[in-house]
Amino acid sequence: MATEFDAIRRKLLEHKQELLTRAASVRADMTRSSGPLEKDFAEQVVQMENDAVLAGIGEATAAELAQINRALAQLDQGTYGVCSSCGDPIDSRRLLALPYSDRCISCAEAGG
Ligand SMILES: [Zn+2]
Repeated sequence: MATEFDAIRRKLLEHKQELLTRAASVRADMTRSSGPLEKDFAEQVVQMENDAVLAGIGEATAAELAQINRALAQLDQGTYGVCSSCGDPIDSRRLLALPYSDRCISCAEAGG
């Protein structure tokens, strides 16, 4: 079901990977002096996801990751694509352009 969201899910996962890779390189820079990184990259990214802000990757990146995670959770729960403000379905073109938007275009415009 919900095959229309498959492309969006893929896009979210790709973007998440990008952000985590960026975070990984920042973290590698930060921890280089204190010893080698964990070999298990998957373990690293989980860790980084948890302490993204502490790791200093920047609030914007951390906030984006949080939004992506929320959108992915909503996809799993079947609540994705519904405006958090008015409860209307969000236009699919808007979701494709901005996969983790949680408000429809009229609410987003009304709220600035
Ligand atoms: Zn709305």
